Amino acid sequence: MARRMTRMSDVRVLENFIGGRWVPSRADAHVEVHNPARGVTIARTPLSTVDELDAAVLAATRAFHDWSETPPVVRARSMFKFRQLLDDHLDEIARIVTTEHGKTLDEARGSVRRGIECVEVACGAPSMLMGYGLENVASGIDCQVMRQPIGVCAVIAPFNFPAMVPLWFLPFAVVCGNTFVLKPSEQVPLSQQRIFELLDQCDLPPGVVNLVHGGRQLAEAICAHKDIRAVSFVGSTPVARAVYQQASHSGKRVQALGGAKNFIVVMPDAEFDRAIPNISESFFGCAGERCLAGSVLLPVGEAHAPTRDRLVDSAQALRVGDGLEPDTDMGPVISAAHRSRVLSYVDLGLAEGAALALDGRARKLPADGYFVGPSVFDRVSPSSRLGQEEIFGPVATVCPVKDLDQAFRIIDGHTNANATSIFTTSGKSAREFAHRATASMVGVNIGVAAPMAYFPFGGARDSFFGDLKVHGRDAFAFYTDQKVTMTRW
Ligand code: NAD
Repeated sequence: MARRMTRMSDVRVLENFIGGRWVPSRADAHVEVHNPARGVTIARTPLSTVDELDAAVLAATRAFHDWSETPPVVRARSMFKFRQLLDDHLDEIARIVTTEHGKTLDEARGSVRRGIECVEVACGAPSMLMGYGLENVASGIDCQVMRQPIGVCAVIAPFNFPAMVPLWFLPFAVVCGNTFVLKPSEQVPLSQQRIFELLDQCDLPPGVVNLVHGGRQLAEAICAHKDIRAVSFVGSTPVARAVYQQASHSGKRVQALGGAKNFIVVMPDAEFDRAIPNISESFFGCAGERCLAGSVLLPVGEAHAPTRDRLVDSAQALRVGDGLEPDTDMGPVISAAHRSRVLSYVDLGLAEGAALALDGRARKLPADGYFVGPSVFDRVSPSSRLGQEEIFGPVATVCPVKDLDQAFRIIDGHTNANATSIFTTSGKSAREFAHRATASMVGVNIGVAAPMAYFPFGGARDSFFGDLKVHGRDAFAFYTDQKVTMTRW
């Protein structure tokens, strides 16, 4: 641990990993990393300078040629080793995630497992990178398509999945023969710090993977950097849009995943005993800080009263506390500022005339830390700010609808289109929903429809800017160029 951190006023200051070495940042500004369950500072993130980014990109540029010429099976071998190290340290990394983010240990473990699955899928690179060809495309002329790496690839990550989100990208970029620069969220840099210590043991040549800590200024420098070929971004919609515009303007390949407002439809024929725990987990799991979290419940007709009442019961029963404690169901939100923002939506809902069916503010919560009690608003107007804006906290909104067509009008009318779900026992309703829903990730009797590492992940409309999505086959396409060779002998 001492190797990658220096000390400042008794709090650890994180170091960058550049060109295969841990280097203290020369930053003169820092962001405090908090344990949100305790409200105490546990580390400091340096806001690294553009010079430090330049050094990382230079190291990655120098490493690119040899790494791109390394046989894919050898590159995959490093990822096999990485996978094993992640697996061996799963619990340790999950504890770091919980400590810096606040989510429960179970959620943290699940997220690290999802990250490991990305490494496993990336290990299939020798097969996934195969090209194709055809003899005699014209008389005596053969044509062959090969996938080749593109260069230095960068990732700008959000706070809500500190370990998993960077692993959506890193293993695929590296195994395809690219070199890599990561800027984690300045709010949750600790699990990536540990993950890079493990990467340091994976026989990767210096410069293949680089970690540079920083904030907005560094992210903007990544988007503008002339030697970075591709940028992957995950975060809020306004920033995703700006990153997409800036990075594509400077000629980069870009995928930018933005925010969400996810609608969950409940039909009167739903199997309520199974549906409600799943819906409750969708709204309140991870304290609502998931891009796949349920945000607006659309109960159809007679489903309204039972769904609302049982969701309130379920939310009331949630044990709110430190995610490290085994009996905690819901941890804190990320920061004091975010807690104020989430609570401001409770005030807003009341001002907009929605009915507060469960007031999370009345809940007795642990004194320290950034806890928010779960709230449920009923009879929310879909066009109100409460019905439209991403809250990213444990505030559920219920908008009763008369039929599935009205639900579709509300879902289609929203600018975000990340995920949506239906709960029903009718094959007809389920089929119609899966076919017509305009969000890109659809759940049928599943409240958090998170595609596995071998399927594409990403939304539509203002939830996604770009073409190729995250992981699955798209990852191999995003991280390679297709070279076509015509041959005549
Ligand atoms: P954010 O947009 O505030 O920050 C994300 C990253 O961008 C951070 O690394 C931050 O340092 C950087 N950044 C901040 N402002 C910037 C700017 N103006 N220019 C360039 N970079 C900037 O997001 P967050 O609060 O960390 O994460 C929560 C958001 O992420 C939510 O909106 C959530 O829906 C979204 N999210 C989406 C997905 C998805 O798959 N679509 C997944 C996870 C999170």
